Order: sequence, then structure tokens, then C-alpha cells
Amino acid sequence: MGNYQSFIGLEVHIHLLTKTKVFCGCPSSFGGEPNTHVCPVCMGYPGVLPSLNREAMRLGCMVARALDCTIPEATWFERKQYFYPDMTKNYQISQFASPLGQQGRLDVEGRSGERMIKKRVRIKECHLEEDAGKMIHTGTVSLLDYNRAGMALLEIVTEPDMETGEEAELFIRQLRRLVRYLGASDGSMEEGSLRADANVSINTPGAGLGKKVEIKNLNSSRFVRLGLNYEIARQGELLDAGKTVTQETRLWNENRDQTEPMRQKENAQDYRYFPEPDLPVFVPDAAFRNRVEASLVELPLVRIARFQETYGLAAEHAEILCEEKGEADYFEAAVAEAVRLGAAREDAAPRTAKLLLSEIRRLMAKGAYAALTAEAPPDRFPVTPGRLAVIVSLAARGKLTGKNAKQCLEAIIAENREPLDIIAERGWEQITDLETIGKAARAVYAAETDAFRAVREAGAEGQSGEKRRRTLTAFLTGKVLAATGGRADPEIAARKIEELIAGV
Ligand code: ADP
Ligand code: ZN
Ligand code: MG
Repeated sequence: MGNYQSFIGLEVHIHLLTKTKVFCGCPSSFGGEPNTHVCPVCMGYPGVLPSLNREAMRLGCMVARALDCTIPEATWFERKQYFYPDMTKNYQISQFASPLGQQGRLDVEGRSGERMIKKRVRIKECHLEEDAGKMIHTGTVSLLDYNRAGMALLEIVTEPDMETGEEAELFIRQLRRLVRYLGASDGSMEEGSLRADANVSINTPGAGLGKKVEIKNLNSSRFVRLGLNYEIARQGELLDAGKTVTQETRLWNENRDQTEPMRQKENAQDYRYFPEPDLPVFVPDAAFRNRVEASLVELPLVRIARFQETYGLAAEHAEILCEEKGEADYFEAAVAEAVRLGAAREDAAPRTAKLLLSEIRRLMAKGAYAALTAEAPPDRFPVTPGRLAVIVSLAARGKLTGKNAKQCLEAIIAENREPLDIIAERGWEQITDLETIGKAARAVYAAETDAFRAVREAGAEGQSGEKRRRTLTAFLTGKVLAATGGRADPEIAARKIEELIAGV
């Protein structure tokens, strides 16, 4: 294939997490018996009036601001005319001339397979619109379910700044992470809460944008990658053969791993946009803007950087912990509590991360782990941040062995009880009592006379002897620990052994 430059722009639709639909009071929840979440407004009966759901406007503006977009002085709605059975009014209320968010950006940063991607993608606009109903085709009949009709959708449109399927896939994944962080959408691609149309063109380098093809309705970020890379190759072959690319809309066929033509694309004129006469212009006042700004939480990339800086975590661990806001919040709550209980932060943080990512993740059922938040009640998630902090702080102060820490987590999950009760009951507390450890050390002394003699002789043999002396001392200390089931304080055990070596 010749050398071409490729251009990718995405249009991503996300369902906003409002209780009700965007222009009526029907519930905005996924599922439900078909055609039960409907009313004359969202069914498009003649003569009914829409009214704007301000919460949808607030959530939309919040996402727009998180994407660094400008919110205009005034924003309004247009009618976008087209006929489709799942859109009973024969027009969709959308935004055209005054999208609620304009000219922003999303920095995308992360790994795609082996490659690191770091890219700034400009956001052209974000606009609010209503979703269509759902058509279900079964054999010879097509059924219509209008439960989804009128649900609040935010469409986010990028500039054609991406170049590969991998970049577009990462963009989608990080946009999803962002809207979940904000609590603006659940971002579930399986349930259709996040859908993408992907636009792609190629051209000889330096010649600017090519003729674009739009791949519609991609419902997984993987299909976005596969579809785009397929199109880039297909268009390259056309240009190689001296042909031109037809500007059209295509669909990804997941069974045949290829894009297929759907229709020649209509353009803006075809839709005959005109201002929606039944809805007033929305003027975001200072109070509204302040409310939007106040709800902007710390965003994922910023948080990942802070986790590395503040807690000394590896980039990879910081990224995993920050994938879901709930898990990141949980982690910070547990570390803060462990520090309050006396652990040093640079010690508590890696211990907490390790137990969370390797042990708790493994021990908890997948669904339960996914619902992790700092506030999850113990009957849903028995390892609360407070309970984990008790374990971490004991381990950090050398009062609980690593093995017992893991066993304690298992017991908490199985029994939903307090770690201190479990530790006391099973006798896992560390032994710091001098008398008990001294007795164990003397027993080792009696059993290991050869080793004790060797250690004393080695002490007199200079540098190599010193190394041997240390090895033997560690061996003898290990014997004391073993004799106490690993519970003796290692420092005290070592001291007792040193005393016996010195003949005290
Ligand atoms: P349309 O009017 O066909 O919907 P827009 O200008 O609204 O086109 O752009 C829709 C999406 O297509 C945007 O994400 C934009 O970045 C992208 N896009 C536009 N032109 C091209 C092109 N020539 N090549 C690749 N992507 C493009
Ligand atoms: Zn309704
Ligand atoms: Mg468009």
C-alpha cells in the first residue's frame, strides 16, 4: 500500500444519567417491558409540548466543561427532520447552531498493546438531543419499543485528529472513563449507553482531508479499532488502484470482520434544521455555571499523575487504581485511615495497593469488586477501607505477617467480621513479649550448637567471615520465628540471638 495520511473523527453518543427523559417526565431507565416508559410527548403525539430537563442540561454542560469546551451565552434546540419508524415525530430535537459545548479537547494517554499513545484530540462540539426508539427485527415482522425514545443523549464530536484505530479505541475508552468519573453516564457499551460513529478518510501526505466514510453505530471500542483499520486499508487499496473513495455510510459486520455499504450520506441541508419553536432558548446564568464548575471532580489523568507523586506508585498501578473512580476513592480512604492508625504513608500506600490489586481482587466475586466504592456497606463489600487499613497498619508496623494479612482478608470476606477480632481469635497477633521470644531463642540455642559455634568463629575472620556471620545469624533468627509460627517480632528475635552469640 502507498504512503497515506489518515484522518479519524468520532461522533460519540452517551446516555446521560437523568431520572427522567430529556423533554418529558417518563423514566429514563434501561430495560422495562416494551412501551411502558412512554407518554404522548415521547411518542410524538400531535399538539403536545416538550419541556427541557434541566438536569440533562447540567450533566451535558458538566461533560462539556470536563472536555474544556466553552459554554455559549445562549444555547437552543433545532428540529432535525427525517423519517424513521423509531422517531415518531418525523424529526429529532437536537442542537445545530448553538451546541452547549464548543471547542474543547481531550488528552488521551495510555497503552494500546505494546505501544504508548499520547495524543491531544480537539473536541469540535457537544450537543444535547433525544434518543430514538428501538426497532427489533424478528423474522418477517419488525417491532418497535419506544422506551428509549426521548432519553437524553449527549453527542460529542471530535475534530479529525486521530490517525489509527488504536488511537480511536483509546479515545473511546478514556472518554468512557471520564463520563463515569463525572457520574454523567454509566458509559455501558453493551447496554447502548455509549455508541460511536467513526469517520475516516485518507490522502497523500500534506494534501489535507480525504473523502470521508462514516462507520455507523459501533457498540464496542474494539469494533471502532477494527472497523477503522479495515477502512484505512480498504481506502488505501482503492487509491493504490487509481480509484476514488465514495463518500458514504458503512456498517461494521462483526461476523465477517469487514465494513459494508449502508447508504450514501445525507448532508446538513437534507435535514432542514430549523429552531425548535416549542422550547425556549436556554441562557446559562452564573448560578448554573457555578453549579457545573463545582461538580467537576478531579479527572482521571490528573489523578493518575497525583497517585504516582503522592503515593509513590508505579504508573501502571496508578492507572489500574484510577480506572474506576470508586476504586480510586476506596484506595485513598484506606490509605488515609492506615496513616491515621500509625502507618507511614510511603509504606501504607504500596501495601494497600498490593493487597487491593492482588488479593482482594482475586478473592472477591467480579461483580462485587466492580461495585467497589469507599462507602460500600460491609454486607456488600466486607473489606471496608477501615478494615483494610487495620490490616495494613498492623503489617506496616511489623505486627502482622504477610501471610496472616492475606488469611485475615480471606476471613473478613468469609465472615464479614472485624479484623482485630479475627486476629485475636486466631492468635495472629505478633509476639513482642521478651520472655516468650527469649525462651524460644534459648531452645534454638540448645538445638543448634554447631551453628552457634560457627557464628562465633566466623566473627573473627575479617570481611568474608562477617558476611558468613550475618548469614548464620539470619538463619538462627529464622529458627526463632519458625518456632513461634512466624509471630515473633523479627527485631526482638534477632536481638535475642545476638545476645546468645555474645554469650550474655
Ligand atoms: P457531517 O456534516 O457529515 O456530519 P461533520 O463536519 O459534522 O460532518 O463531521 C462529522 C465527523 O466527521 C467529525 O468527527 C469530523 O471530525 C469528521 N470528519 C469530517 N470530515 C472528515 C474527513 N474528511 N475525514 C475524516 N473525518 C472527517
Ligand atoms: Zn414521555
Ligand atoms: Mg455532523
